[in-house]
Amino acid sequence: MNVLDQVTNVRGYAKYLGLDPTNRSVLRKIQRQCERGELPAKLDEGTWKIKLPHEGELIMKNWENLREFYHDGMVLIHAGYGNDQNYGENNNKISQFYINQVPISKPTKHFAVTWDFNEFKNSEAAASFEWPSPHAALLINDEQKQPLVDYFSGSSFVAYGRSLKFNDMSITILNRPVEFEGVTGSLRYYAGATDADGNVYKVFWNMFNIFDPVEIVMTVDNNRYCKHCLKRWVKDADTTKCKHEWVQDME
Ligand SMILES: [Zn+2]
Repeated sequence: MNVLDQVTNVRGYAKYLGLDPTNRSVLRKIQRQCERGELPAKLDEGTWKIKLPHEGELIMKNWENLREFYHDGMVLIHAGYGNDQNYGENNNKISQFYINQVPISKPTKHFAVTWDFNEFKNSEAAASFEWPSPHAALLINDEQKQPLVDYFSGSSFVAYGRSLKFNDMSITILNRPVEFEGVTGSLRYYAGATDADGNVYKVFWNMFNIFDPVEIVMTVDNNRYCKHCLKRWVKDADTTKCKHEWVQDME
């Protein structure tokens, strides 16, 4: 067994199914499926531990995709990078483009969801940031094990040496994680790690999935338009040519 075997709890299973993990009736239904033996689950100190059918999927979601938010009764989904007002400001803030989840053909609302990484960057620079469980791990093959341990133990890294839980197993993080090259607008870190069985890993964190955003602002509402100029509602709309009057779309 290695840390990539996937086990989750009832809430995690709801997320895995793409359902709202704060919806009590969803959680109760999953719990009942566990009790009736319809899921590969067992009770562990009062909580259901459910084995996921496809290894890696849940973790890769944390790693590759930004989590969704439950905001004002809507589910907001990450819809891409770009259009970030903070770009080029060097203020350690990053805004992501989110839309609300709606049935296909229904108009969406757009949101700028903003994270402020100043506190994190300061505490990591002072070597006081406590790293949580990583979001993803890559098992290293036998020939690459020792070179990888040597690399992350080298002088270009700061030793970390802390044990963390990953999928209920203990791994030791060798070095203070460093930024991992990624796509524009992402903020990812990685480090080397080992476990008690002699396995070696690269482990990864997606920083957007560790911290809560500081601000969620609606920027476009495709449900409303101006009854004079027919423009869709946008935040800070220019009112010099038209004194907009916003009305809702007809259902
Ligand atoms: Zn108008």
